[in-house]
Amino acid sequence: MCGIIGILGASAPAAPRLVEALRRLEYRGYDSAGVATLENGAIERRRAAGKLANLETELGAHPLAGVSGIGHTRWATHGAPTTGNAHPHATDKVAIVHNGIIENFRSLREELIKAGHSFASETDSEVIAHLIDENLKSGQSHEQAAIAAVRRLDGAFGIAVLFAGEEDILIGARKGSPLAVGLGDGEMYLGSDAIAVSPFTTRVMFLEEGDIAVLSHAKVKVLDANGMLAERQVHTFAGGVAAVEKGNFRHFMQKEIYEQPETTGRTIMRYVNAFEERIEMPDLDGVDLGADSAIVIGCGTAHYAGRVAEYWLEQIAGLAVETDIASEFRYRKPAFGKKSFSVFVSQSGETADTLAALRYCKEQGLKTLAVVNVPESTIWREADARLPTLAGPEIGVASTKAFTAQLSALAALTIAVGRARGALSSQEEARLAHALMETPRLITDALKSEPEIEAIAQTLQHARDVLYLGRGASYPVALEGALKLKEISYIHAEGYAAGELKHGPIALIDEETPVVVVAPHDALFEKTLSNMQEVAARGGKVQHAEAFEICEYGRRPNKEELGKLFPFFGETK
Ligand code: GLU
Repeated sequence: MCGIIGILGASAPAAPRLVEALRRLEYRGYDSAGVATLENGAIERRRAAGKLANLETELGAHPLAGVSGIGHTRWATHGAPTTGNAHPHATDKVAIVHNGIIENFRSLREELIKAGHSFASETDSEVIAHLIDENLKSGQSHEQAAIAAVRRLDGAFGIAVLFAGEEDILIGARKGSPLAVGLGDGEMYLGSDAIAVSPFTTRVMFLEEGDIAVLSHAKVKVLDANGMLAERQVHTFAGGVAAVEKGNFRHFMQKEIYEQPETTGRTIMRYVNAFEERIEMPDLDGVDLGADSAIVIGCGTAHYAGRVAEYWLEQIAGLAVETDIASEFRYRKPAFGKKSFSVFVSQSGETADTLAALRYCKEQGLKTLAVVNVPESTIWREADARLPTLAGPEIGVASTKAFTAQLSALAALTIAVGRARGALSSQEEARLAHALMETPRLITDALKSEPEIEAIAQTLQHARDVLYLGRGASYPVALEGALKLKEISYIHAEGYAAGELKHGPIALIDEETPVVVVAPHDALFEKTLSNMQEVAARGGKVQHAEAFEICEYGRRPNKEELGKLFPFFGETK
């Protein structure tokens, strides 16, 4: 989660203010930073790898006086964290900062190179500046040029755009990454969140998915995803930091759910080389991915992430895998195969049982690999090697974005193991890496189902028991769903392997028991469908999450398609 700031200023030099705002965004993590301002109408940039202090040194040596500009803290996904890859990216007409991932950057880049553009960085983001530049050349207005460019971008993004020679326009756009507009006195601001603009104003407007905001000194115009003029509520933050951080989300858990396009994207891109569509693992310090077997250990949500990975590692990489709950594992004196390694999954990196299990494995001479969110935590430090998840701080008590970030890292690990074991050809690896890179966009699409999911939640709220069913890798997802419901609503919920239904719990099902089925349209779909039929025959209510069908269609299925997928439920949801 990098940071974006934009200032359409009145009289004070923008650069120190941009840096001040970036400092507030440091908590999100970054590896380089930069600003661009308008110096007598011309775009001037200052950028530096590493900490903000380096950017300040650069600005000290080469100061900027312009009153309007944009700034960025980058957390690299495409291209190394160098000064040359740091944002803003610019042509002589336009400068942009971008947060997120542009999925179709390669085809756009090729197209723009053919049109005579030359690229100065290895980032996906630079295409945005050239695309807008190209649109300007063809005679479009600044607003049109930016909008037309944004409409061509696939992926997840928050963007701020500054134009050469234009002191009264700044454009922001968001899809999958957050962006807020700050309203000042004769000044306007853009920021990744309310904290970024908090040094300048307490009045903040949060953009919604697909919004484009056109700022001038006097007003803000917002166009929604359909290009229609839209009104967005202005919030006034007089209160504490927590309220500011939550933005217009009701609580941190909701905010963190909506961060997932960004957090999964960041984690995936830590391991995927987007140019070569290949997995690149960091130095794993002797962990042999070509081993014969592995043990995957975690607690709660992290354990379920490990269980999903068990299916993947076996099916995709042909690796024999055993998963266990850390608290069980550490007391059962487990035995290992000779050529084996162990994986420990933990958000905090401090989970006591997981740590004890790691220490046990080390004592037994097994190499240990940590999938951990908090750098320098104990599990991080004690493991032989680590695969960081880049979910950022998780404040909500029930884990959400950490789970999907763990799955992202474990999916990359699966592909790397598949390659190491000779189970995947380079074409298969490219196909899987490509599919992985589509995840942030698909999550963005899935999040659009919130109104439908909310309506389903209304029907669940009075239930005494809820069953979650799934098969294959969807089975641990069902377990995780049941855990979430228990933690958050105190409703009793059970996750079950759909095929186990007939061996017991089916007796529990009646009209009073909602059943949530995780049923992606995969090889096991037909089998899951017959389990759903069993439930329907008992009068149980099946709530199928449309969100999962996006995997099949690459978008939300319409009613007709849903009818085809679930013939016996008709209109029922
Ligand atoms: N994908 C962009 C890059 O690698 C933006 C990364 C970010 O969100 O900071 O430069």
